[in-house]
Amino acid sequence: MVEKYNVLFNKYQRKIYRVLRDTLFREAIWRSVIGSRINREKAFRKYPHVKKLAERLRDIRYNTILNLQEYVKMTIENMEDANMHVYFAKTAQDARRIIGKIVGSNKIIVKSKSMTAEEIGLNEYLTTLQNEVWETDLGEFIIQLANRKPMHLVEPAIGIPKEKIAELFSKLAKREIPPSPTELAKFAREFLREKYFKADIGISGANVIAAETGTIFIVENEGNARFVTNAPPIHIVVAGIEKIVPTLQDAMLQIEVLSRYAGYTMPSYISLISGPSKTGDIEKNIIYGAHGPREVYVILLDNGRSEMMKHPIFREALLCIRCGSCLYECPVFEQIAGFYGSTYFGGIGAVWTKFVLDPLHAYVLAYSCTLCGRCHEICPMKIDTPSMILELRKEAAEQGFILRKIGRILVREYGFNINYSEKNNHS
Ligand code: SF4
Repeated sequence: MVEKYNVLFNKYQRKIYRVLRDTLFREAIWRSVIGSRINREKAFRKYPHVKKLAERLRDIRYNTILNLQEYVKMTIENMEDANMHVYFAKTAQDARRIIGKIVGSNKIIVKSKSMTAEEIGLNEYLTTLQNEVWETDLGEFIIQLANRKPMHLVEPAIGIPKEKIAELFSKLAKREIPPSPTELAKFAREFLREKYFKADIGISGANVIAAETGTIFIVENEGNARFVTNAPPIHIVVAGIEKIVPTLQDAMLQIEVLSRYAGYTMPSYISLISGPSKTGDIEKNIIYGAHGPREVYVILLDNGRSEMMKHPIFREALLCIRCGSCLYECPVFEQIAGFYGSTYFGGIGAVWTKFVLDPLHAYVLAYSCTLCGRCHEICPMKIDTPSMILELRKEAAEQGFILRKIGRILVREYGFNINYSEKNNHS
């Protein structure tokens, strides 16, 4: 095991040092970090009460995870009442198998952004079943063409310069597309529009789910998720069970807090889905599939979340609403972005990696952290990530893994661009 850990650690270290030599990439990340902090501050200035709302949301989410099984049961009952087909997947493998059965082979699939789909390796799996899968969020579309992994929860393609994007799009279009953001967005819009209406299946995640009605909330700015969840005849939702909150009002509260902490005063679109499209306009006969999908499948994923819930320290990580705020405060993220080699990034990502992916990988990531505490300060859910990192390190040390504080080395060698609060400086 120690040997495997060392191989993993050395591979990871080589990868991040390679990234650090890419000055263009680091410049792009830094611009993105600064821009995002400015946007978040603007959103806080415009809606100062959001910090109070975040405190309320934390209480609601904490109570929900303490009674998670009960809320999962309630969600399933209410979704089934609303004519959705619901599956509970214990593991990533179960989720892939269920989705694989629904989808089959030789289908065209359009997808909107979903970290949960990323967590279970859904694209790769569906491709091995001979399906054609298209990411439709612009950032994810770029990442897919570049054959890379997302680098941020909210902005997956940060760090890819527009010249590189123009190169990727020109290759796909078989014509020259200039590196102008307007032209690039126009090409993606035209290319993907055709896919939405040809697609057999749309796959999305969920930002939050209201248990009392089984309603799925999806937040976005681009409008792609509306096409994905509406144009194809079948819609599949894959969502972690921690996305559940008790009521519609709680879900809306989460959307508000999530948006402001993600740096948006308000997202352009919030979709609420409570079942397949239907009409009763012809002699009161209920027909499914009026204009939207005739079938909606929901896969509620556990994959380690119940285990996380049982742990007195790591449990808090389930409160994460994936606003990405902590990443833009993290001194290591601003150097290497999403090059952690895991689906989930930053300190909070290390904890998630332990439960949903691979504990060994989590131990490697735990040593990327500087324990500066900025993530804890900015987090709307006040998740004490530094304490969880210390717990991960304790576990790693107990298993004989060598302690190498790579985060501190990075910051020392490559600069520390922000001041951090001494009061949270665990060492
Ligand atoms: S840990 Fe907190 S700040 Fe980071 S993504 Fe989750 S909710 Fe947002």
